[in-house]
Amino acid sequence: MFCRIASKKVPAKIIYEDERVLAFEDINPQAPVHALVIPKKHISTTLDIEDEDHALIGHLFQTGGKIAKEKGIAERGFRLVVNTNPEAGQTVYHVHIHILGGRHMHWPPG
Ligand code: AMP
Repeated sequence: MFCRIASKKVPAKIIYEDERVLAFEDINPQAPVHALVIPKKHISTTLDIEDEDHALIGHLFQTGGKIAKEKGIAERGFRLVVNTNPEAGQTVYHVHIHILGGRHMHWPPG
């Protein structure tokens, strides 16, 4: 599914794009700010990250922080969340970082 968003076959509200990553609004937001950032390269889960992906994954997280700044939630606080496999709630098997903020976050997460 997210490969199809990256290749523009499925529409999304894109908020950032470069040659390696794409960010877009989550279709079912769980907070006032809820965006996703994905690598354009298909990687199913965090367990499938390879040595050659290290720079890409760093760029993915850095992009998450930049989007939080652009959304105006960086100073007050935000979460970058990556779910892996069913018990963690992963439903889309293409690595993605959730950027969540704009409300108080609880800990531990549910
Ligand atoms: P996860 O449960 O961690 O795999 O997260 C998948 C996220 O993708 C959920 O928050 C969904 O709401 C979101 N999602 C699924 N399909 C789309 C889509 N077509 N456009 C935007 N967000 C989506």
